[in-house]
Amino acid sequence: MIAQDPQCEVNNCTYWGTGNKCNAKAIYVVSHKGKKASNNKETDCKTFVPEI
Ligand code: SF4
Repeated sequence: MIAQDPQCEVNNCTYWGTGNKCNAKAIYVVSHKGKKASNNKETDCKTFVPEI
């Protein structure tokens, strides 16, 4: 199953949209600080671009 409608609360990202929508065409998620993730707090969206 491929994620088709990811929701995101990072509302200072350029790709963020109302209703917690991610408007990026694709997202790239990595382990926090390159360490093996043990839970959902240890993953990060690398597609994030801060809003100017
Ligand atoms: S690119 Fe990542 S951080 Fe930005 S809105 Fe989409 S999921 Fe959230």
